[in-house]
Amino acid sequence: MNYTFDTICAIATPLSKGGIGVIRVSGENAIEIVQKIFTKKIIPKVINHGWIIDNGEKIDEVIVLPFIAPHSYTGENVAEIQTHGSPVVINHILNMILDKGARLAQRGEFTKRAFLNHKMDLSQAEAVLDLINAKTQKSANSAAGSLCGLLKIKTEEIKSKISSILGKIIASLDFPQDVAEVDYEEIITEVQGAIDEINDILKNAKMHNILRQGIKIAVAGRPNAGKSSLFNTLLNLKRAIVTEIEGTTRDTITETLEINGISATLIDTAGIRDKSPDKVENIGIEQSKAAIEEADIVLCLYDGQIGICEADEKIFNLAQDKKRIIVRTKCDLCNNQTKNNEISISSKTKEGIEELKKAIYEEISDLNPTQSEFLTNQRQQYCLKKSLEALENALNGAKNNELQDLISIDLKASITCLGEISGEVITEDILNDIFMNFCIGK
Ligand code: GDP
Repeated sequence: MNYTFDTICAIATPLSKGGIGVIRVSGENAIEIVQKIFTKKIIPKVINHGWIIDNGEKIDEVIVLPFIAPHSYTGENVAEIQTHGSPVVINHILNMILDKGARLAQRGEFTKRAFLNHKMDLSQAEAVLDLINAKTQKSANSAAGSLCGLLKIKTEEIKSKISSILGKIIASLDFPQDVAEVDYEEIITEVQGAIDEINDILKNAKMHNILRQGIKIAVAGRPNAGKSSLFNTLLNLKRAIVTEIEGTTRDTITETLEINGISATLIDTAGIRDKSPDKVENIGIEQSKAAIEEADIVLCLYDGQIGICEADEKIFNLAQDKKRIIVRTKCDLCNNQTKNNEISISSKTKEGIEELKKAIYEEISDLNPTQSEFLTNQRQQYCLKKSLEALENALNGAKNNELQDLISIDLKASITCLGEISGEVITEDILNDIFMNFCIGK
């Protein structure tokens, strides 16, 4: 892969009013370029305080932090300018830096350079993104684990075990007179060990995905079942419109809340009815079906005063392949008994709300929500699965006493797939895909 490491720049903080704004410049000429617009001589390893000057006019009083390669985030010369947090000033200074010869950075280009300059491996670079995007403390902690290199350490351990048995096989193949053929039992034990370790990581994959992306919960039910009221109660706000006229919640509305450290996106579906004379509401019904399909968990609401009718059953059936919780609403107005498999709530008195949250968490718990030391993303899970496939081929080969030459090919393939996780073996396309998801300035 060929890379040009010209000097890039970007605003690293959100472009809105704030205490400070940070502009980051990275590349061989980073410090030289910033020097052209800064009043004082920039001294390395020192906090430089001075003014940004444009054609003799003072633009802002700033701090310039110079980092000399390789001791910087990107591994290149870096200058970070801390300005006052005015979008107008920040943009002005960015334009001046562009005028002096830097180029605007692409998404994730600073982190991409950090990876290409061996400041971090690919799993750590991806963890930067996970940390920025973390919605809860739990996901932030796990992302921090990956950032520390825990995923890298784990995959290196597995790789070194596979390499060790592969080394023995290759030695016996290359020097048959001096080195005895490796015992098939030994190959089976070692390969099985590596398979178990990869399976251990993959068993948490579903949970990793939930920690990274959150879980989607749809609130479904007939018009007037109490969906919007429950939605508001769970969120503690009045966003969806609540009225007594059936079918008022016409659009799906989403909000995020946190349930025991898991980020949950709540989708308030419009009243689901089989036929509605109202076109707008029909669109809502279609969206509800889509929302149920998309959801991981569906709360199926029915009005406790009325009981479950045929129309309710139809809606509940839409969610029959999902994890679903039947919710009997408006229990403050009912005196009939709750059934065993449902939760009775009142959005008015808040009765049953904690119990409902607990039930949601238990459904999530089914997916094993233990705190994970690190996170894997879908790309990394794909690499692990490919590596596993190759190891299983090797294991079968060993069990059938196949030629060890053939077994070694599968072992090499499994190592290559593991190497893709840290980015030892990586294509330009994959790299671009990964860093496309970053923000500019990171
Ligand atoms: P949706 O059409 O399913 O979104 O239903 P809404 O949340 O708009 O509720 C329909 C009506 O039932 C409104 O008048 C609400 O005030 C009322 N309602 C909803 N939940 C409760 C509840 O727990 N207790 C009582 N007493 N009324 C409720």
